[in-house]
Amino acid sequence: MNIAILPGDGIGPEIMAEAVRVLEVLDIRYESETALVGGAAYAAHGHPLPEATLKVAQSADAVLFGAVGDWKYDTLERALRPEQAILGLRRNLQLFANFRPAICHPQLTHASSLKPELVAGLDILIVRELTGDIYFGQPRGRRVSPDGAFAGQPEAFDTMRYSRPEIERIAHVAFQAARKRSKRVTSVDKANVLETFQFWRDVVTEVHADYPDVALDHLYVDNAAMQLVKAPKAFDVIVTGNMFGDILSDEAAMLTGSIGMLPSASLNAENRGLYEPSHGSAPDIAGKNIANPLATILSLAMMLRFSLNQPEAALRIEAAVTKVLESGLRTSDIWSEGTQRVGTREMGSAVVAAVKSA
Ligand code: NAD
Repeated sequence: MNIAILPGDGIGPEIMAEAVRVLEVLDIRYESETALVGGAAYAAHGHPLPEATLKVAQSADAVLFGAVGDWKYDTLERALRPEQAILGLRRNLQLFANFRPAICHPQLTHASSLKPELVAGLDILIVRELTGDIYFGQPRGRRVSPDGAFAGQPEAFDTMRYSRPEIERIAHVAFQAARKRSKRVTSVDKANVLETFQFWRDVVTEVHADYPDVALDHLYVDNAAMQLVKAPKAFDVIVTGNMFGDILSDEAAMLTGSIGMLPSASLNAENRGLYEPSHGSAPDIAGKNIANPLATILSLAMMLRFSLNQPEAALRIEAAVTKVLESGLRTSDIWSEGTQRVGTREMGSAVVAAVKSA
């Protein structure tokens, strides 16, 4: 097993260090290579995704990714901004399926912004298409100067597009995932306004014919956003496009208490993948030993399960995280009265100890 480790910027290196410590105590044989990505790579090599980093990622069985981005790069031209590294990796590794589970751990129901009874036992899976939609359409209009002025251009626009094969393959992924759960898929679109999403709805419905054992319903994205806070447990698998998935998965993340708890996986057709926490680089808390490393540690578990065929190691990590939460340890983002506040490093150490003792 060959693992690429890309810590990135902000809290990325801190949370990655804890995930790597967990990986090291698992008694599995692996090789790993660490490379710069994002702002750190731009600072060292003038590009957020240097050729050498891309090579490391391409030759690995799986990529463990921290986070990229920092406000100090906001004035760079778009192609050089840290976030472009993520888009470049998705494109190059053909990672079209993004899995974002939103699970509310029983110990954390009070950390949610919703009433505990609405989120207790919540377990939904958002399957977001990653390589199409407006993020990969044609941008028009360009900020031409570093201070952000559009130099008098009268408009800017981005085109939204999806091809039939792109929708078909993500729909298959969602129906297959649903088969392993409670066999319900909700497809989220904006078919009432956008042609692209009427096409999406029609193609998802066609693919559904292959999965008569799975129930399918369709929701407009505005209604889906509302239902997610009204009755989130009514959902099982949500499948949606790149932009709606981006927004809804952050909304779902907050239902579970903290974005610091949520892992994600982005897979290609061969199950090679990139695994990362759902959150960003959190520059506001970087370097303070307060970031929650659990989303990254749980991303490592997803990596072991999906790309490296080590389901037992994945279960060991997940059980260790549950045990640590049961013991009352909390980073600041999930802390509440009566629990013990710990830092990034201490949380990592507790998970390492729990993995070792399992
Ligand atoms: P963010 O997810 O970095 O932070 C949002 C809020 O959540 C902040 O208050 C932050 O302190 C908190 N937070 C995030 N992760 C946490 C953790 N592990 N533990 C505790 N608290 C945590 O989003 P943002 O502030 O909108 O963006 C910051 C930077 O991250 C930007 O440059 C953005 O472009 C980038 N970003 C990168 C990725 C990625 O690398 N995949 C994803 C989203 C945002």
